[in-house]
Amino acid sequence: MEFETIDIFNGVQRPIIIAGPCSAESEEQVMSVASELKNRGITLFRAGVWKPRTRPGCFEGVGQEALQWLQRVKRELDIPVSTEVATAVHVEQALAAGVDLLWIGARTTANPFAVQEIADALRGVDVPVLIKNPVNPDVDLWIGAFERINNAGVKRLGAIHRGFSAYGEKFYRNAPQWQLPIEFRRRLGNVPMICDPSHIGGKRELVFSLSQQALDLNFDGLMIETHCNPVCALSDARQQVTPDELEIILGKLVHRSADAVNADFLSYRNRLDEIDDMLMELLVKRMAISREIGAVKREKGLTVFQPFRYNKTIERYTKYCSDSKMDIEAVKSIFEAVHSESIRQQLRVVNEGNE
Ligand code: PEP
Ligand code: MN
Repeated sequence: MEFETIDIFNGVQRPIIIAGPCSAESEEQVMSVASELKNRGITLFRAGVWKPRTRPGCFEGVGQEALQWLQRVKRELDIPVSTEVATAVHVEQALAAGVDLLWIGARTTANPFAVQEIADALRGVDVPVLIKNPVNPDVDLWIGAFERINNAGVKRLGAIHRGFSAYGEKFYRNAPQWQLPIEFRRRLGNVPMICDPSHIGGKRELVFSLSQQALDLNFDGLMIETHCNPVCALSDARQQVTPDELEIILGKLVHRSADAVNADFLSYRNRLDEIDDMLMELLVKRMAISREIGAVKREKGLTVFQPFRYNKTIERYTKYCSDSKMDIEAVKSIFEAVHSESIRQQLRVVNEGNE
């Protein structure tokens, strides 16, 4: 279904930039980051008033009181403001405070009852709404949230891609899985798509490269968490950037023309990058285990290189190669490289203190 939507950012030059802190922490913090962001080309100010935290006991937002600080940003700095809503009460309070745009967070999108409650609270209200992808990689659940909000009569809608959660230690806080926002766009081509590199990366060092990938894929904008003193932030301290860093990131971004860029081609490249990241993570894990084995070998006085073991690995993959399209010589050289790095790591552990 293609639904009737009105361009949420009509006439605003792309990329749309939404910036501001993860959470509104105090009046002073909100005003200082907003004044620093003034005149830096941002379209919209963001700040979380109600924070959906994974575990209780973390900072859960200041709540309604913080809405006055957003009103001050709007009034004194003339920057439109936005916040996350998760319940009908949040919607009512945010609208009463004159918040210009609402967004639905990833945990809320995953819950159809919560989305329906928000939809019912929005019936008859003309406010733009951005909907983040659900935490799990389910495009239908994401589109279902759009259908619920759109059925309530809200026409100004946009999507935010913030990545998908996964088990275990990982390179990204939330795996980008670019193929999902791409599929979303294939199905709902008229809905603008914003990327949230802060929640995907979980580390400020990744914000630039993820933002560039999003622009390469022709996204309409970016939502970047920004704080004057990120290390002391009460939530998401690792991923927020300062207003100065934001300016540097925005200045470095290469803007490509949509005609010159084939989104499908870039999506292949992004998928390769994701797989390379995974390979790297696995290699790091593999080497950590090698070092542990090194310690055991040291203790038991065993040799580091045990040829039968290496030959067995190659044998296993020779069988595998006949079913896949891989060349056995190529596979051998990959494993030789992995194996020799593993030996090098073990030798270091075995000889520790002997040099
Ligand atoms: C946020 O934007 O601060 C937030 C809570 O994000 P998400 O819903 O993507 O986790
Ligand atoms: Mn956050």
